[in-house]
Amino acid sequence: MHTLLPTSTAGSLPKPSWLAQPEKLWSPWKLDGEELREAKQDALRLSLQEQQHAGIDIVSDGEQTRQHFVTTFIEHLDGVDFEKRETVRIRNRYDASVPTVTGAVSRIKPVFVEDAKFLREQTRQPIKWALPGPMTMIDTLYDAHYKSREKLAWEFAKILNQEAKELEAAGVDIIQFDEPAFNVFFDEVNDWGIATLERAIEGLRCETAVHICYGYGIKANTDWKKTLGSEWRQYEESFPKLQQSNIDIVSLECQNSHVPMDLIELIRGKKVMVGAIDVASNTIETPEDVAKTLRNALRFVDADKLYPSTNCGMAPLARSVARGKLHALSAGAAIVRGELSA
Ligand SMILES: [Zn+2]
Repeated sequence: MHTLLPTSTAGSLPKPSWLAQPEKLWSPWKLDGEELREAKQDALRLSLQEQQHAGIDIVSDGEQTRQHFVTTFIEHLDGVDFEKRETVRIRNRYDASVPTVTGAVSRIKPVFVEDAKFLREQTRQPIKWALPGPMTMIDTLYDAHYKSREKLAWEFAKILNQEAKELEAAGVDIIQFDEPAFNVFFDEVNDWGIATLERAIEGLRCETAVHICYGYGIKANTDWKKTLGSEWRQYEESFPKLQQSNIDIVSLECQNSHVPMDLIELIRGKKVMVGAIDVASNTIETPEDVAKTLRNALRFVDADKLYPSTNCGMAPLARSVARGKLHALSAGAAIVRGELSA
């Protein structure tokens, strides 16, 4: 990356109201068939343009082509029955009705590769593509086949690696794995969570990132955050092993969060996507708010490794709010860039 402090988002952006009901997770599509296929591409173009107008350096599809960051990927796999549903507790936080793993899981066809090719055709900027991480995938399913979280995670890691290699071939510059589960299951993270993530990136030459956050600004997450106390030290559990891993970039939640910034010291040497935009609030940060968070982070990460970003995806926000936040991110990064070059 040539620009200092290249900006990006953690992933999702709001969908237009003609595509799906806004400000809602798992919002059903409003169209189908060929109309839906075209509408998703139109939304992707729109989302890309919003990022470009805001001056975002590393762009994405805004996740316009998927209903949800985990389930849409799983829907394309063999071995999972979406009709057979069980209620499970997701990330020890809320109950959800989830599909059942009924047989060996496999990827029968590419999932996002055509969408990534389409995005690649639209821009010469660096592009980032998000996939769910193995641990977060298993946590969103009922497993009646392997009956082992670890075994299923290894199977998903192999599948993710197939998809990631094809995304790389399609011209994706950074492949990001979303692992909010890394903030919850600390023993598993260290026993096999990071190992399965490394299996998912095996043999890739493009850059790789892991996004570890405290989730979207939905009620189940904000209620959970209230139980975490005044200092959130969850990252302390996974960072030492992540620092030793082959992952290039770690994406974190830092804006308005109770994460002590000095924990970033534990991943010294990695590139860090610092969340400088709060996605759980409709208040649009000022550029100075963003700059303050970035300056704070610069005490623990070298300037050439600091990537200003958002805490998490912005899918549940109003479009005007998300747009304002994109502009604030860009303007805040510009302030600090100016200070660094002065
Ligand atoms: Zn997130």
